Amino acid sequence: MAGPAKRDYYEVLGVPRTATPEEMKKAYRKLALQHHPDKNPGNKEAEAKFKELAEAYEVLSSAQKKQAYDQFGHAGVGQGGPGGPGGAGGFDFGGFGDIFGDIFGEVFGAQGARGGGGRGGSRAMRGSDLRYNMKVSFEEAAFGAEKTVHLPRESACGTCHGSGAKPGTQPEVCKTCSGAGEIRFQQGFFTLSKTCPDCGGAGQTIKSKCTECQGAGKKAENVRLQVKVPSGINVGQKLKLRGEGEPGANGGPAGDLYVVIDIAPHPFFQRDGDDVYCEVPISFTQAALGGEIETPTLEGSVKIKIPAGTQSLKRFRLKSKGISNVNGRSRGDQFVTVQVEVPSKLSEEQRQLLERFAEISGESYPESQGFLKRMKDWFSTQQP
Ligand SMILES: [Zn+2]
Ligand SMILES: [Zn+2]
Repeated sequence: MAGPAKRDYYEVLGVPRTATPEEMKKAYRKLALQHHPDKNPGNKEAEAKFKELAEAYEVLSSAQKKQAYDQFGHAGVGQGGPGGPGGAGGFDFGGFGDIFGDIFGEVFGAQGARGGGGRGGSRAMRGSDLRYNMKVSFEEAAFGAEKTVHLPRESACGTCHGSGAKPGTQPEVCKTCSGAGEIRFQQGFFTLSKTCPDCGGAGQTIKSKCTECQGAGKKAENVRLQVKVPSGINVGQKLKLRGEGEPGANGGPAGDLYVVIDIAPHPFFQRDGDDVYCEVPISFTQAALGGEIETPTLEGSVKIKIPAGTQSLKRFRLKSKGISNVNGRSRGDQFVTVQVEVPSKLSEEQRQLLERFAEISGESYPESQGFLKRMKDWFSTQQP
């Protein structure tokens, strides 16, 4: 058998051969906690000790295996050489739950439970998905657009068609891992695996490398893609371009490209869903007298009528002047909020006219007067 001689299981647990199951369990639990990988991150020695412990206890806690071990040593329990999962000794997993369950959680759970033999051939792997952030203008998002994307991406090498091998030759199945890409080995009742050091997980080796890509099977490229931006798309929405991600390996499919939409701010418009908002300043005389004002819309400027006596922040709705819904036939509205502007500078003539206006305007401000009255009433109820 390959590898260094194995330590005696009793020695590993630090108990005499006459130890009771209870004593062995106690010794094991103490040592296992001490060498647990969670407590010794990155410590290879602790990890090895931990596995050794698990193996020793697995044998000594089973009456049947203990007897075989006592009689024949390591050979009696099929330890000492590499074996497939569940192969060598036909281990039972009893006792795993009660002693490991609470301490180890998921550290070894996944690997310990993995069964089955080695897989043949190299694994087809799907290429990675890619993300591309694309900023479009407010109008492009509203009405849709055809955009060109320049994307740095890996593409399958055209010379070797992604195999990495010189044309006329084939990659060979890696002898070390038989094409599985990983090496499994049994330690106690754990099946552990590590990436194959010879092929780096690819499952195959290339004797004569493709000179175009030096065996990588792919090369960096700058691709140009046409992206159709649908009308009504909104911030954060994704366009999926199937198969435009990284190429797959060993015949696996390419990943997808996700174009994530961002929208540039607009000088006039804000957007909420499919509705469009804007603010339009109007003069205080326009507000008082009413009339026509001009407002921008997505399709050019339009004139709208405002009634006499329009207050500041009054909102007008332009039906179906918003954005067409990206999924359907409906269209949002535009909302125009007016901001009444009061002159900050007055000529002498304007001032005189306004003073005259004020003199004759006693009854013209129901809101202000109503407010004054409510305020006075409220203060009168507060008197002691
Ligand atoms: Zn190539
Ligand atoms: Zn390999």
